[in-house]
Amino acid sequence: MCYSSAYPFQDEKFQHTYYYCQNCEFIFLDEKHIVSSKKEVEVYERHDNNFQNKGYVKMFERFIESNIKPFEDKLKTALDFGCGPGPVLAEMLRQRGIEVDIYDLYFYPEKVYEHKSYDLITSTEVFEHLEDPVKTTKLLKTHLNHGGYLAIMTRFHPRSTIEFNKWFYRIDPTHIAFYQPKTFEVIADKLGMKLVQYDSTDSLVLKKI
Ligand SMILES: [Zn+2]
Repeated sequence: MCYSSAYPFQDEKFQHTYYYCQNCEFIFLDEKHIVSSKKEVEVYERHDNNFQNKGYVKMFERFIESNIKPFEDKLKTALDFGCGPGPVLAEMLRQRGIEVDIYDLYFYPEKVYEHKSYDLITSTEVFEHLEDPVKTTKLLKTHLNHGGYLAIMTRFHPRSTIEFNKWFYRIDPTHIAFYQPKTFEVIADKLGMKLVQYDSTDSLVLKKI
């Protein structure tokens, strides 16, 4: 990620190796443990991502309130990148008068964003699956209008490796990349973006400057 050296650590439960960079605080799973796309889709299909799932809707209400509402008057168009099988967030943004395109590698694979750019890109519960987060962020940046926002949700890891090994979020076999706000600051610096806000648990906003 930042070309500093990352030190390896092991978890006892799965005998997986992770690497932890002390500079950007990025943690990533050794690539030999990364699951196939087929297995990945099977895990996604077990998720219950729809409007009937109240916890899921509540999670997005909170996400919108803190990470989108502060910039909302500037937002006319949006892309929900990695929307999953049931595009709930997209629908919630549409209800707020924003025009929303959706894309998902597995469920809505048509690259509708290809010749377009947006005021806002949302990417929730996506970054923990990425093998190359810088590359993906760079791609998303090219589809943002100048001054546009990239609002991301992914659980921030609990810095200590002991806590990390006990952490529920890393048990999902498709979760391979884990961040702290610092990680996104490093990514932003690399790409000419700015980390404009973040919270203590799982959300942040990058701005294209
Ligand atoms: Zn690093």
